[in-house]
Amino acid sequence: MLPQAHVVDYRITATKYVAIVSVLVVLPFVFLHFAEGRAYIGSLLLLVVVILGVAARSGSKGQHLSLLLLFGFVPAVVALLGLSLVAQGFTASLWAFPTIMTFYLLLDERHAWLANILIFTVIAYLSFRYLDGAVAIRVGASLFAVSMFSAILTRVITRQQGHMQKQIVTDSLTGVSGRILLADTLQQALAYCRTTGGVATIVSLDIDHFKAINDRFGHEVGDDVLRALGEVLLKSVRKSDSVFRLGGEEFLLLLYDTDLTHGVSIAEKLRDAIATMEIVSGLTISASFGVACSVGHQDWKAWVKRSDIKLYEAKRAGRNRVVSELPVVARTSAPPNLAR
Ligand code: GH3
Ligand code: MG
Ligand code: MG
Repeated sequence: MLPQAHVVDYRITATKYVAIVSVLVVLPFVFLHFAEGRAYIGSLLLLVVVILGVAARSGSKGQHLSLLLLFGFVPAVVALLGLSLVAQGFTASLWAFPTIMTFYLLLDERHAWLANILIFTVIAYLSFRYLDGAVAIRVGASLFAVSMFSAILTRVITRQQGHMQKQIVTDSLTGVSGRILLADTLQQALAYCRTTGGVATIVSLDIDHFKAINDRFGHEVGDDVLRALGEVLLKSVRKSDSVFRLGGEEFLLLLYDTDLTHGVSIAEKLRDAIATMEIVSGLTISASFGVACSVGHQDWKAWVKRSDIKLYEAKRAGRNRVVSELPVVARTSAPPNLAR
């Protein structure tokens, strides 16, 4: 699967704080269990704290260890609660409530649901088996309520976060990506190319004489041009590729598994598509393009710089053209009506 850059998930931050609180709250009970001869419960409790510590440490490096949490933390904590309930009765069931909350704080939403079903089933079954019937009903009902409320809260937060992330990473005028994920996306693309031995290509483009379009047709029409260009660019690339607005009327395309020749032909098609765009009558536009393909050892800034240099060569050579490091420079069609 092709890599995708993301804004940091709140679960990574939450893991750190859950680990800190757990150490503070749980460690005294580890000693208590050992002191009172329940070494198996004390050991399981210690294991849970260690797993949280490991997950928090990875979180501080920006990594979310979802598999360790799902297949390590969840079974350990469910076993711990089950054994404690059998050994200590009602008092142990109280720990099920904060545990449910940790599932929603630490795990992906779907995994949290699964973990919840597991803990609810185990605790409800053991409560009915080992506790007084009236207590068991209340434990089961309140556990179910906490579970539902936590699920609702997580749904609301996740939806809000998704919405906000989209706003942060998307340029509001054109609908393409803003700069915020540029560095991460290009770094991931270079890492992907190094791993797979493949090649990716950057296409930089800048609208020609855009200032003159604003001056002659007004800023609103200028905005319409940017919007229409954003649409054309998004329509022209695959889902795995990325389109960024670097600022003003300058855009950058990242094309996966695309060599320089293929990149140039895509840029040429775009140049044609842009030249035939009609925003308002009497206004045709053009753009200049620079194309550069990935070089394994280079960093992303050097890669962007190489395509920028080619873009400026295209401008200097008369605009409305594609320039790359290929020996043959693709040719222009008729100049736009605003070229001076
Ligand atoms: P060149 O062919 O050399 O690229 O010339 P240019 O006129 O396109 O470039 P220049 O950098 O001189 O002007 C860019 C213009 O883009 C100036 C600025 O007002 C305009 N611009 C930047 N952002 C926006 C925007 O969001 N909306 C509109 N309408 N104009 C913008
Ligand atoms: Mg320009
Ligand atoms: Mg510019």
